[in-house]
Amino acid sequence: MIYNDRTLTIIDYESEQIANLTLPDGLVAIAFSAGYDSTALFYTICQYITDLNLESRITILPVHHWYSSQIDMFDKCEFIIEQIKKRYPNITIEETEVYFDNTLYANQRNLHKVYWKDLFQRYPDIQYLVKGKMSGPPKEVIDSWPDGWWHFDWQNVLKSPPEYEYDGNVKHYHPFFNIDKRITKRIFDYLDIPKVVYNTIRACEVDYGFMRREEYRHTPYFLEKPCEGCLPCLQKKWAFGEF
Ligand SMILES: [Zn+2]
Repeated sequence: MIYNDRTLTIIDYESEQIANLTLPDGLVAIAFSAGYDSTALFYTICQYITDLNLESRITILPVHHWYSSQIDMFDKCEFIIEQIKKRYPNITIEETEVYFDNTLYANQRNLHKVYWKDLFQRYPDIQYLVKGKMSGPPKEVIDSWPDGWWHFDWQNVLKSPPEYEYDGNVKHYHPFFNIDKRITKRIFDYLDIPKVVYNTIRACEVDYGFMRREEYRHTPYFLEKPCEGCLPCLQKKWAFGEF
């Protein structure tokens, strides 16, 4: 991690990838799913604030989108934030904004849109909604994976986001827009993110596939173990070396 004025540069020599992060003063919202990427992002932002002594200038507002199909996610979210607060006690982290989603993924895009608009109306001081959204793995890696429920729309799922995106009053910032999950793994190692946090996170989204596809909707699934076949499982194995 290298700093140049207010810009943090993360370089992964092994995968030849570079990510930059720069934040303005003020209230910064973090879209925190309690997944690997947003956890890496949350820790990176706290490290950034600490290294640059910006504790009195930047305040964090975690925003959690709580899926009804992943009922334990909010507990995981709060647990990880507690760990972050212990590690970075001088950073102001506001109480988590939660929006509960029981749409069964049918109309998620619209739900996000409405919620974010409302969020920026309630907190007009938010500078950005920062998200850990990344690029997908190289095409040859994806092509080598077995076909699965996710295969039908992987182009969409793994599409690189723009770095900045504006939609009315909503300002999105994707600092990881041009890098892939191998950087997430690098950040976990470099920032020594505790094992207890790593173990709390669940990558598997087999339920998402089940909800999305009619033929799977009534299939029972078990969340205790990763399914080892969904896109997030395959991505985790690729980046972290284990399911
Ligand atoms: Zn899975």
